[in-house]
Amino acid sequence: MSASNAYDVVVIGAGAGGMTAAAVAAAEGLSVLLIEKTEFVGGTTSWSGGMIWIPVNAGMKQAGLPDSLSDAASYLASTVPEAENADLRETFLWRGPEAVEYLEANTEVRLQPVKVYPDYYPEKPGATAGGRVLEPVSFDGARLGANFRRLRSPLPEFTVFGGMMVNRTDIPHLRKFGRSFRSTLRSLRLISQYALQRLRSPRGTTLHLGNALAACLYASLLARNVEVRFDTSVDGLLIEGDAIRGVRIVSPSGVRPIVARKGVVLATGGFSHDTKLREQLFPGGAGLVSATSPAGTGGGLHVAIAAGASMNTRVASPAYWVPASLFKRADGSQGVFPHTVTDRAKPGIIAVNASGKRFVNEALSYHEFVLAMLRDGNDTASRSFYLVCDRRFIWTYGLGRIRPFTLRLKRYVRSGELIEASSIAALADSIGVEKSALSTTLENYNAHARTGLDPEFGRGTSIYQRHLGDAGHGPNPCVAPIEQAPFYALRIYPADLGTAIGLKTDCHARVLRKDGTLMSGLYACGNDMGSIMNGNYPGPGITLGPALTFGYIAGRHLAQERGPA
Ligand SMILES: Cc1cc2nc3c(=O)[nH]c(=O)nc-3n(C[C@H](O)[C@H](O)[C@H](O)COP(=O)(O)OP(=O)(O)OC[C@H]3O[C@@H](n4cnc5c(N)ncnc54)[C@H](O)[C@@H]3O)c2cc1C
Repeated sequence: MSASNAYDVVVIGAGAGGMTAAAVAAAEGLSVLLIEKTEFVGGTTSWSGGMIWIPVNAGMKQAGLPDSLSDAASYLASTVPEAENADLRETFLWRGPEAVEYLEANTEVRLQPVKVYPDYYPEKPGATAGGRVLEPVSFDGARLGANFRRLRSPLPEFTVFGGMMVNRTDIPHLRKFGRSFRSTLRSLRLISQYALQRLRSPRGTTLHLGNALAACLYASLLARNVEVRFDTSVDGLLIEGDAIRGVRIVSPSGVRPIVARKGVVLATGGFSHDTKLREQLFPGGAGLVSATSPAGTGGGLHVAIAAGASMNTRVASPAYWVPASLFKRADGSQGVFPHTVTDRAKPGIIAVNASGKRFVNEALSYHEFVLAMLRDGNDTASRSFYLVCDRRFIWTYGLGRIRPFTLRLKRYVRSGELIEASSIAALADSIGVEKSALSTTLENYNAHARTGLDPEFGRGTSIYQRHLGDAGHGPNPCVAPIEQAPFYALRIYPADLGTAIGLKTDCHARVLRKDGTLMSGLYACGNDMGSIMNGNYPGPGITLGPALTFGYIAGRHLAQERGPA
């Protein structure tokens, strides 16, 4: 067999999990082939917020933010109560910080703690107000040279001026453009940098969030000469006796076997876009909307299961959820806007169900929000849910993909995406709910909201909720009345941010059979690995944190493997 048909390690899927495993294996001196189904690296990772939850990380300590392994363990014990995967969570806690230190020392990955970002259940024992979350440091895409075109672009709805990424610290300055001298200067500098970048590149090269994470991982692979084969998929595993010895890949030039002397790592991003598995494993009310990259069709899971692997189906929830609104882009493609942090918790908006009633504290995490939709929908995907607000709210905070300070809403109304009405009764008519029910909901909400209270759902009662509210609005940063016509409604759907069900593994990320025995030579990470959180969502970055940690663990473990004699 020629050299190009045999490597120490073959990794399938170029997202956070796969690129971490590949970068670490390469840093350990192994020859690595990365197989990627699409023409881009990055997967859903490159669309994500790039938040990485790693308790007790060194950056926290340097920033003087308190944390300890025992606090983190208590927090996880109360938010992920199931015994399932307890060993993997313990491994994650003690090896997560080690993974970050290794990546920073041996690859192009650079992370910094987000000092204020509370865990999602701040009332639980061991919760922290910030620092457990790491974010990628901004990355200059120009460093990738000609390979920049291989990096999946961020979602267009999260860029401005047709391709400029902005980070959390830039947003308030852009919002104050023309109203504050300092913010105007800073915004002008950002815009002129972007204009210069566009002279050489089809989009801005200052990268943030998940795009920066995908970029620095890709840069790590390029620096170690890791071979990436694009437009290539895996359609089976090479099995010898009890061990996995390689993969069968499919590319435009045909089907061929590739030998993996030490092992194969599956990291194809889960099964969010596999309709059959969704129907089988998701609750009936979940429907088919996914905010993830369409390439996640369960490729890794299918080949592993065909070879005898097992999945962790004993989960609190089969996926991680986010409410999403749908729209058509100018190019005709279907847009899915994930309502993570930009609007739901701000003052002056409520969510209502098909009966015109509120059903949830809108400022809870996106995952909890959708769990409430699923409970309310009673397993019916057709049950409708809307966000309801007034013009002032959209002007100040935006709504879904509609940005703050948008002067004309007509094009959104004309497309049917946004529903506008001059009264609450007319709005109720347009969204097909009982007029009196919606009016009563608004009257009850407004009566208390004028004084910043929400006795029905307690909105704004935790530091997490207030963090997502508007710090400049008092007395409650999450609550304001909705009373100035015109009124608006935007339909939202339950959607997933990634699947939680995946392959069962041991603490070294090695895949297990149904009887608990090891599939020698087969590893899984990212969303192909069953989530260590079992479908609970304790904090920001609980998929990328484990993806980096177990990608790292797989890479290190492969380096210690002797391979077949
Ligand atoms: C809008 C949004 C925001 C998010 N924000 C965060 C956040 O801030 N923090 C967080 O922790 N999580 C976040 N998530 C979830 C997170 O992005 C994903 O869970 C994570 O990126 C999954 O990483 P992965 O490596 O498993 O998969 P991916 O990043 O999707 O990578 C999988 C790769 O495998 C390739 N592939 C698929 N099938 C095959 C095949 N058969 N053969 C070869 N290659 C294949 C894909 O093309 C892709 O490149 C967010 C999700 C969304 C949608």
